[in-house]
Amino acid sequence: MTATPDSATPPAAHRVIEPLYAEILRRNQGEKEFHQAVREVLETLGPVLAQRPEFVDARIIERICEPERQLIFRVPWSDDSGDIHVNRGFRVEFSSSLGPYKGGLRFHPSVNLGIVKFLGFEQIFKNALTGMPIGGGKGGSDFDPKGRSDAEIMRFCQSFMTELHRHLGEYTDVPAGDIGVGGREIGYLFGQYKRITNRYESGVLTGKGLGWGGALVRTEATGYGCVMFTAEMLRSQGDSLDGRRIAVSGSGNVAIYAIEKAQQLGATVVTCSDSDGYVVDEKGIDLALLKEIKEAGRGRVSEYAERRPEARFVPGTGVWSVPCDVALPCATQNELHEADALALVRNGVKAVAEGANMPTTPEAVRVFQEAGVAFAPGKAANAGGVATSALEMQQNASRDSWTFAHTEERLAEIMRHIHDSCYTTAERYGSPGNYVVGANIAGFELVADAMLAQGLI
Ligand code: GLU
Repeated sequence: MTATPDSATPPAAHRVIEPLYAEILRRNQGEKEFHQAVREVLETLGPVLAQRPEFVDARIIERICEPERQLIFRVPWSDDSGDIHVNRGFRVEFSSSLGPYKGGLRFHPSVNLGIVKFLGFEQIFKNALTGMPIGGGKGGSDFDPKGRSDAEIMRFCQSFMTELHRHLGEYTDVPAGDIGVGGREIGYLFGQYKRITNRYESGVLTGKGLGWGGALVRTEATGYGCVMFTAEMLRSQGDSLDGRRIAVSGSGNVAIYAIEKAQQLGATVVTCSDSDGYVVDEKGIDLALLKEIKEAGRGRVSEYAERRPEARFVPGTGVWSVPCDVALPCATQNELHEADALALVRNGVKAVAEGANMPTTPEAVRVFQEAGVAFAPGKAANAGGVATSALEMQQNASRDSWTFAHTEERLAEIMRHIHDSCYTTAERYGSPGNYVVGANIAGFELVADAMLAQGLI
């Protein structure tokens, strides 16, 4: 496979990008999600490399694609019956050009080095786009939290942190949550870090509980931010979310708060999903019921349909066959395929924004772009989560806590800023309306300029 630069790429940049991508494939064999994430960025960098040859001379791309540090470690733990399990822990510290490594931890059986590297790579550019002083990193484990008791989760988190703590610090590396890691896990991880280091270092983790260093709006931020970004995209076309019909996939933290913000802005959200299937609720998702099932009970969306006569549950992955004006994929990587994109376009979708990381396959992205559908990549649209983590770090550093309204206004400002910088960058580099080009180039330039200034790092 080659990284075919898009049509805006000058031929000289082609000659730079293609061999670079081939070398990345050779050195990172089998890491298919990482290849996909790198390819998606490299394909769009041609115009900036043509204008800024100093980036090529300084081998910025080769350096940016190689993590500063990659940690892989054993995580032994015992379950409630005393049986011993061994999982694998990861932390990929990708880039510290703009600040301490920052990015979540994912606990899911699918986690491997390629997944953590794709997430860490995207995180570099996402974090740069927020305008906050945070570098990029990501971590996690192939541990499966499904069906585990609180005591088992605690023992796993303690074992994980017993190794990871030596690599963390508020000025070094600051993890947070991702799939399978929420407030409960951050609590256990923080407790163990504090115990081992004998330091109440609030800024070492984000997503903490509100009574012990956490920040208001952090829980809501990824979903809220994604909808705020969507509203900005529609506004730039003289449109709004009011009265719009929205399809959301997923039913975790991102999906739930995307639904909440969309409803606040006058839209009707008609779907949500999990790995078993999806729910269609023509009257609009009853969010109180969904929260009760997912947040309080850790249940499945099929239960939603059992408890709400207006809704129906459909097993399988067909959520994108439901007609909508706006689609928000908020589940996981590569969940929206070419055939789904074609169905959405046929049904008249106007905008798509990624609440999850890389949920749309490259073929599906192309379908949206060719059909003129506004498409926001996750590194822009879901950056509200990590941006609010940076606001949490700011509050921790100043031993302060802000109100919900103030923090939400800061989040809205940040999402507007990200939107505008993607929009104007895309225009400046000859791809008006292309948020993928805008996000990649705007994020890349910030990191590349910092790397040039900081010498050969
Ligand atoms: N896991 C989230 C993301 O994908 C948040 C990371 C953080 O807050 O550090 O951006």
